[in-house]
Amino acid sequence: MGQDCIFCKIAAGEIPSDVLYSDDVCFVIRDIAPAAPVHLLVIPNQHFTYLDGLTAERHGMVGAMFQAAAQMAAREGIVKSGYRLSVNQGDDSGQMVDHLHLHVLGGERLGAMA
Ligand code: 5GP
Ligand code: ZN
Repeated sequence: MGQDCIFCKIAAGEIPSDVLYSDDVCFVIRDIAPAAPVHLLVIPNQHFTYLDGLTAERHGMVGAMFQAAAQMAAREGIVKSGYRLSVNQGDDSGQMVDHLHLHVLGGERLGAMA
């Protein structure tokens, strides 16, 4: 567990949160400060921060996260209208939580990417 990591605490049930989906690898919650009508976070159970530490053993984790994102997009009804997946990495991206996560954004026409 990452020390004082909010997503590890949610994963461990120490901070209550509405979990929309979970499997052996990852879980999905709604972002507390949504940037779009649908704004989900796909979070691996295991604490992991930077993609430059992505080794072959973690390829399955990343694949499972994308699959969960696609399933949740279907459940939220935004597949046809479209959605965006984004991952912040490091200071310039504005990353606030140093536990890897996929943002799933949709439900309206999204602005241009920075
Ligand atoms: P980042 O900027 O690190 O890519 O995104 C972290 C996201 O986590 C932010 O969009 C922020 O609103 C969200 N977030 C931070 N703390 C919590 C929390 O306790 N619960 C939920 N559901 N989302 C959180
Ligand atoms: Zn963590």
